[in-house]
Amino acid sequence: MTDQLTIALSKGRIYQDTLPLLEAAGILPLEDPNKCRKLIIATNHPHIRLLIVRATDAPTYVAHGAADLGVAGKDVLMEASSDNLNELLDLQIAKCRLMVAGPKENKPHGHRLKIATKYIQSAKSYYAAKGEQVDLVKLYGSMEIAPLIELADKIVDLVDTGNTLKANGLVPEEHIADISSRLIVNEHAYKTKFHQINEIVEKLRSAI
Ligand code: AMP
Repeated sequence: MTDQLTIALSKGRIYQDTLPLLEAAGILPLEDPNKCRKLIIATNHPHIRLLIVRATDAPTYVAHGAADLGVAGKDVLMEASSDNLNELLDLQIAKCRLMVAGPKENKPHGHRLKIATKYIQSAKSYYAAKGEQVDLVKLYGSMEIAPLIELADKIVDLVDTGNTLKANGLVPEEHIADISSRLIVNEHAYKTKFHQINEIVEKLRSAI
């Protein structure tokens, strides 16, 4: 018997970069989520479907078993709980770096460093490992603004080309982690649907 397999991934960059890998694994979506509004996309395999979710939600769907497999950025995984899920493959896509960045003209500050970021857990671990006490300010986007209007001294954000930082008068200062998208699996599904999942994993592995 062939079990139903559900793969959670987000629209945009992750979907575009995962598509060729899925195709190499013989999985062809029947519709393009960037063109239709459907959130559940059937594939050429009647038992394999894609769930189109928010990037930050992919680990939640997988952890709860609502999806068997998922694609999530390492940045998202570093912020999420790793209960009930395993990282199976580094897909080597959507690569960038998690970095500390600050104003070009670094002003001396007599207070505890204030860091604005969406990546609270990663920033917390990074500064804890350095033995530095900092105040963290949670933002959901446009973090580059924070040092410009003195909401924070520095930011922790993803950097690809560095153009966004440059356009806002910021410079990359410290490298925290290399980021890429990972294939994640629900622990229980990996046991109960091992052969089906492993076949896909091996095809993806050779396509990377
Ligand atoms: P860049 O200007 O090329 O350095 O890109 C930086 C902006 O794009 C930041 O706002 C990041 O949040 C976002 N970004 C860059 N790379 C990624 C990625 N791999 N995944 C998600 N967001 C990214």
